[in-house]
Amino acid sequence: MPYLLVAGRWKILQKTSKQKGKIAVIIFSAISQDKRRIVMKRTSIKIATIFFVSFFCCSWGFLVHRTINQLAIYQLPKSMRSFFYEYKDSIARNAPRPDQRRNTDPTEATKHFIDIEAYGDSAEWRMPMNWNEAAGKYGKDSLLKYGYLPYQVIVIKNKLTDAFRSGNRDSIIFYATDLGHYIGDAHVPLHTALNYDGQLTNQRGIHDLWETSVPEAVLDQYNLHSRHEAEYLSSPEEAIWQTIRESHALLNEMFATEREVSKDFTDSTKYFTEFRWGKDRRFYTAAFAKAYNIKLGKNINEQLLRSANQIADFWYTAWVDAGKPDLTALLPKTFDKTFRKALKKECKAYRKNELIEKKLLIAKQVTQN
Ligand SMILES: [Zn+2]
Repeated sequence: MPYLLVAGRWKILQKTSKQKGKIAVIIFSAISQDKRRIVMKRTSIKIATIFFVSFFCCSWGFLVHRTINQLAIYQLPKSMRSFFYEYKDSIARNAPRPDQRRNTDPTEATKHFIDIEAYGDSAEWRMPMNWNEAAGKYGKDSLLKYGYLPYQVIVIKNKLTDAFRSGNRDSIIFYATDLGHYIGDAHVPLHTALNYDGQLTNQRGIHDLWETSVPEAVLDQYNLHSRHEAEYLSSPEEAIWQTIRESHALLNEMFATEREVSKDFTDSTKYFTEFRWGKDRRFYTAAFAKAYNIKLGKNINEQLLRSANQIADFWYTAWVDAGKPDLTALLPKTFDKTFRKALKKECKAYRKNELIEKKLLIAKQVTQN
């Protein structure tokens, strides 16, 4: 990675407002082995043709995106699993790539969410599942403005099917990785709402709290094993829309729980302010994140597992739709008995929910975001 330095790690964070951002503030933060030193340099760049969208408002944190892409691999049938296992590092590590792509691709941002209320009452049940019909009904400009995540999932699923069909190894890895990202986004309730960061209910910061702060604080306590095995989706469109509906239905509880937990906190115990992305910003404290997680119960953990389950289903469906090509032909010669043994061992650790304990979770191995 270009940001990796000898003495520590560097990361680039970009942050701006959701739909009109034209300014990116880049902060390089240096983290030494035993202490973190922040504040190196910031640069404001105005680029009229490039829109930047914040990480907090549009994605699981990097940690979860990487985790769910990896977990999905263990749910695949044997005929697919070896191939995905061989390339698991790339599939997991590059899971946040579509978010990073926003920095250079002005069309990327609205592929990551759908502000469902903008499309009318109960739109999650009424919107056409087909892009052309939706564009005819609402206008393409509205879809581009308020987001079209479920349609994007189908676009990438079809590209993955084509990649399987053509036997293009790099394309399979690329689209499988990106598909995992968009499906992950569809499981974050705030990706389906106009009130995407609690800005309309005086709960600003809840997006980062739910999808990043809480998982980062308690991932070690999560169950990362699901009994689910990849299933063929007779209607991928219906499957992803059902996910949007279920995610949207979680919003009330998410906001209400924040209000409930807030009763036990004062402003000074609930928030901390930190200079990030070019200005002082308010974040929920770790203590609040932990209390919020306890009150929510298994809510976030379950969404994480559902994300992985559906990623496996979509990968499998694309492969079946492509005619179940033989993926072993795409494996390098180095995929031998040793690899098979390692795969077996890892599947066992997955089944016993020991991936973190055995240091096999790639998201935890990655040293830079
Ligand atoms: Zn995203």
